[in-house]
Formats: sequence, C-alpha cells, structure tokens
Amino acid sequence: MAQYRNYIAGELVGADEWIDVENPYTQQIIGQAAKGGEAEANQAVEAAVAAYHSTWPKLPPEVRAGYLKRFAQLIRDHQQELTDLLIAEQAKIAGLAGVEIGFTASYFDYYAGWADIYTGEVINSSSARGDGTSNENIWLNWKPIGPVAGICPWNFPFFVMARKVAPAILTGCPIVVKPSSTTPLTTLRFAELIAENIPDLPKGALSFVAGGGSTLGVALTKHPDIQMVSLTGSVEAGVEIVKNSADKVMKTSLELGGKAPAIVFPDADMDLAVKGVTDSRLIFSGQVCNCCERAYVHESIYDEFVSKLKAAFEAAQYGDPNDPASVYSSQVDRAQLEKIDAATRRAEEQGATILTGGRVADRPTGYFFQPTIVEGAAQDSDVVRKEVFGPVLPVVKWSDYDQVIAWANDCEYGLTSSVFSTNVNTVMRAVKDLDFGETYVNREHFEGLQGFHAGWRKSGIGGADGKHGLYEYLQSQVVYLRY
Ligand code: NAD
Repeated sequence: MAQYRNYIAGELVGADEWIDVENPYTQQIIGQAAKGGEAEANQAVEAAVAAYHSTWPKLPPEVRAGYLKRFAQLIRDHQQELTDLLIAEQAKIAGLAGVEIGFTASYFDYYAGWADIYTGEVINSSSARGDGTSNENIWLNWKPIGPVAGICPWNFPFFVMARKVAPAILTGCPIVVKPSSTTPLTTLRFAELIAENIPDLPKGALSFVAGGGSTLGVALTKHPDIQMVSLTGSVEAGVEIVKNSADKVMKTSLELGGKAPAIVFPDADMDLAVKGVTDSRLIFSGQVCNCCERAYVHESIYDEFVSKLKAAFEAAQYGDPNDPASVYSSQVDRAQLEKIDAATRRAEEQGATILTGGRVADRPTGYFFQPTIVEGAAQDSDVVRKEVFGPVLPVVKWSDYDQVIAWANDCEYGLTSSVFSTNVNTVMRAVKDLDFGETYVNREHFEGLQGFHAGWRKSGIGGADGKHGLYEYLQSQVVYLRY
C-alpha cells in the first residue's frame, strides 16, 4: 500500500496513524496519508514562524516567483502521474482531472508573473510648511500578513491548494496547507516531488500536513502565530473557524458553498442555454461550488427548454472516470450519495415532481446518482434553497422580471449566478440587479484565474484569484515622511 507522508520544515515525515483513502469508483483503498494532529500543527507553524523571521519575506518577489515557476514545471513534468492519482482518489473524469492539473501549473506561473507588477501607492498629503507649500510624502507599503493556514476541500484538492500556495509564496507569507482527509494524496505527492526536486526551498516557507478538520484544522486555526486562515469548504467549517479565531481577532478568507441560479430569458439562444445549464450542473457529478444549482426559465420558452434539458440529462453517460464517454463518475463517497438522495426525497415530500432520474443508480461499484431534473419545487423548498452538491437540478417557471430577480437573490448564499439572453439591455439590467460575487453571461459556470472568486452573504469573506486574491495575503503600512 502506497503511503504518502507530510512535509514539515523541509522534511517528509510519517505518522503513528494513517488515513485510508478510497477510490470512490472502485471502492478500493488506494493509499494512506500520514495523519497529523496538534503536534504536527505546532511543528509546522513553528517552522513557518522561523521562515517569516528569516530573509524569506524580505527577498525580492522575483526570487520567490522563481519557486512558483519551478512548481509549475514540476507539475508539468509529472502531469500524467498526478492526473492519474487525482482520478483515483476522487473519481474525477480523466478530462477534467487533466484540466485541473494543467490549470494548477498555469496558476503558479500566473502568480509568478505578479512579482514585477504589484506595487504600493503614493498618496497626496495635506500637510504644508509655513509658506503653504507641501512638506510631506505619504506612501503605502504592502507587507505579507505572516504565517497562514490554507485549509482545502476534497472537490478540487490540487487546484485549491495552488490557489492558496501561489499568492502566499509570492507575497512571502509562510503557509501550512491542510488537504482534506478525503482526497489528500495528490497534494502529498506534490509535497514529495518538492522535497526531492526543490531542496533549496527555505524550510517552513511551505508545509503540507494531512489530518482531520476538528483536530488538525482546529489546532491550526487556534494557533496564536497563525495570522490568517484561508478556507475553501462548507459554511459550517467557515463558521467554526470564525468562532475559533474570534479571541485572537484573526483575518479569515473564506470560500464557502453556493446555490447558483441560472436565469433563462425568452430571447436566450436555446441550445446554448440548455448546454450551459447542463454542463454547469453535471460537471464533476454536481460537486462544484459554483455549479448551477437552480434554473429559472421564462414561461414562454419553458416547455421547449425543459424538453431539451431532459433530453440532454438523459443522454449524459456516467460511469468509469477513465472512459472518455463519461460526463461524470461516482460521487466522492457514500455519505455524499446519501445526502443527495435525501435531498431528492425531501424535494418530493415538499411537493416537487421528478422529471427524470431521481434515484441512486444501480451500478456494480461506485456511488452514482442519476442525472436528475426536479419540477414544481416551491421557492421556499429545500431543493431550491440548500446546496445539494450532486447532479440534481430544480427547474422553476417564471413570468415577471422583478419576481425572478427577487427569487434569485433570495438565498443565504451569494457565490455565482448566470444569465442567458441575446439582448444586451436585458443582460446588463440583470447583471446590475443580481447580488452575487460572480455572474456568467451566456456560458457555463467556471471561473478564470484572472478574475476574483468571492462570495456574498454566507458564501464567504474575501476571495481568491487575480490581483485582488493576491492582496488577501498582504497588509498595509502607511508611511508619513515629513521633510
Ligand atoms: P468541509 O467544510 O467539510 O471541509 C473543508 C476543509 O475544512 C477540510 O479540509 C476539513 O477537514 C476542514 N475543516 C472542517 N471543519 C473544520 C474546522 N472546524 N476547523 C478547521 N478546518 C475544518 O467541505 P468539503 O466537504 O471538503 O467541501 C465541500 C464544500 O466546499 C461545499 O460546500 C462547496 O460548496 C465548498 N467549496 C467552495 C468553494 C469556493 O470556492 N467557494 C470551492 C470548493 C468547494
């Protein structure tokens, strides 16, 4: 059985306890990850503090960017191996797993490019000497926030790891990464590659420790020397982290759940809208935070749209992640499958009807749920309000613009949304009226590395990617220089 060790203070270290990792498609145990707890959290944070007090944060950003470029190359040199491991540990279809690994390399390169670009500011002062002429310069420096804990979910474990590591390394924030216990292997294999190929990376600048949320995650959050926790995960974990760090008044950067609406207008390009909504719901078995979780379709096109959507859902093949015909594969584990099944049963109890799918799929292995469309769900029903995180889509008919915008915004989440219309006035009006961190127009829900992935309401605090994601890891120092 392959064992994957943690990487703490520049060393690969095993553990007394190991986490079994299951391939959800084959239901076989494929490897073990070293299980860290409070002791490992303390060791990793101690190394991070030492790195923060070394020359690391004071080096020119180009030097740290050099490490990001080497991470990117290391990933490309091991692209197939990492892709295969990602497929195995979470049943992501091969095409999407390849995209995730390649995108992660690009992400490191992208942030390396920011080394020469991010700057402070010069600010005009109102101070003046006796003759009325100015006698002060004010400028604003951006400095690294300090040791950070990056806590990752199971759904995009490799990419989300880079989303935290890239801005942290570039800005000089030492970071301790905690992968999810469900999918830690690709991240720990990357740690092994770094240990073997980049031994000159300063100790403690980057550590990887696997372990549970309520043990290791809590220990990292509560550690007095951790200056920020960047979590991607559920609202429940985000709330716990805010509570557990309240006494030390720590910054949190939280990327949490979503319940994205797609609004389809009467003048939408029908085929494009059907494809956009289908792709946005079925990608990775619906286990994506920005997935389309509810579709509002205008009454004048409702019947045609729903009939085409039903055909698209029924045509979607699901099965072996390595079969190029598979649109999606197994849910990540039995618990997720049971959650999705319970959400679908609850939708029926609350008055909705199943148009297609609606059941756990009968397959020899894996945790499969059928592609499912739910009709007639009320706005206040759970399937319209709560994140399902599976291939289940409620479709709701609308007739009044103000009503549909109110329905879309009436949600405790505020991560992503989408609009399908060929009329620029309709699009611009809806974009202005939607209260979400991201709005996609006439396309599937999937963000780019140059944007800013940040949710409103319970979907989070702060965000990731692009220029604004970089500044999450920086804090300001304003200097007043009188002359
Ligand atoms: P989760 O909250 O169960 O776990 C996420 C991580 O947090 C894990 O590493 C877990 O061990 C850790 N954790 C849990 N409780 C903790 C605590 N009290 N203190 C510290 N760490 C703790 O989420 P998940 O099931 O891995 O991921 C699915 C969720 O993540 C969904 O809700 C999805 O919408 C969300 N998500 C959001 C984004 C985004 O960018 N907004 C991206 C991916 C996933």
